[in-house]
Amino acid sequence: STDSSGVLVRAEIDVAALQANAAVLAKRLAPARLKCVVKANAYGHGIDIVAPALFAAGWRDFCVATINEALHLRELLGDDVTITAWLYGPTTDLDAAVAAGIELGVSTVDSLERLRDAARRTNTTARLHLKVDTGLGRNGLAPADWKRALVKLKTLDARTESDGADASATTPELEIVGIMSHYAVADEPERVETAQQTQVFDSAHRELSAVLDGAQGRLGEPERLEVHIANSPAALTLSPFPGTSARVGLSLYGLSPLGDQTSQDLGLVPAMRLVSQVINLKDIPTGHGASYGLTFTAAADTRFALVPGGYGDGIARSASNKAEVSIRGTRYPVVGRIAMDQMIVEVGAGDVAIGDEVVIFGPDGPSAAEWGEWAETINYEIVTRISERVDRVEI
Ligand code: PLP
Repeated sequence: STDSSGVLVRAEIDVAALQANAAVLAKRLAPARLKCVVKANAYGHGIDIVAPALFAAGWRDFCVATINEALHLRELLGDDVTITAWLYGPTTDLDAAVAAGIELGVSTVDSLERLRDAARRTNTTARLHLKVDTGLGRNGLAPADWKRALVKLKTLDARTESDGADASATTPELEIVGIMSHYAVADEPERVETAQQTQVFDSAHRELSAVLDGAQGRLGEPERLEVHIANSPAALTLSPFPGTSARVGLSLYGLSPLGDQTSQDLGLVPAMRLVSQVINLKDIPTGHGASYGLTFTAAADTRFALVPGGYGDGIARSASNKAEVSIRGTRYPVVGRIAMDQMIVEVGAGDVAIGDEVVIFGPDGPSAAEWGEWAETINYEIVTRISERVDRVEI
């Protein structure tokens, strides 16, 4: 609140918490390795803060969704990191990503040939993770496409051989460096689908290994394949652990993906604290309304604190009349509709002054999980939707 810049809502990013979370998760996963998922602006925490902080703590393996995110990360962290990206379309330019050594997930048969062509044009090797849909039904090769992709791989290998070049002397165009998939219900440990997905994944892994064996190293070494299907909830619950690495997002940021366990239960510290300040205080008589629609009416004489922060900052309007915030360690209700830029907090006779810090969520305030309940969404969305107007400040 001593900030004179005009920025009213800040997301404080605790880099020590991030680094500690990474260490806790890596220890839990060992000997499997931690891949740090930093897509969507590091789940809203700010990629430009998060990625360098993880790099400084020694982490070298990062995942994002899109190619633009991957290229930004390459610029930010340099060549000494592995970056995996998996989301692109039929017309996305793949050349820059392949040339920048981005490892790409492959979810359609066609993209194998497109990636081979990109590797040819850029005179590099396309390093690929075949992505198999083991039941989520989202991205990834569905069973029939999986079979076709393996056949296509053999064809591409055969073409390399028939080019007449000595395979050992030429740079391969394609290298299969990994096999990946994604769980649908790992956050609900009692459900059987997770084990079923693991089984499908294991058998796809065996089939891919056989194809790579057959290609005698020209398409990659089966023993060196990176095998990854686990996300945060899987990393925190599955034993034995499936795979050689896990793509961990949410819990890296100190948030729990499990309904029945808090961050603290898991030994994690939330890395984002969203704060604002009280900029106006007014006495309100009984019967007075609050905000658009006057959906709240004061039941008794009270006081309203005006707090900058609204859906323009990515704060969920659906939490109107349900959310709480903390001021000087006390919880107060958000009354009336959350507007684009402002919300009203009923502080009554509480000890609140203009200029006081307001913790919207994070340490010393409500959790992102609570906001998720108030807004009828999940903690993932609560942090990720924090908009660009909000200043991310490293603490
Ligand atoms: N892998 C993929 C393909 C994802 O889409 C995501 C995020 O949604 C993750 C890994 C990380 O998941 P989590 O944040 O639960 O760790």
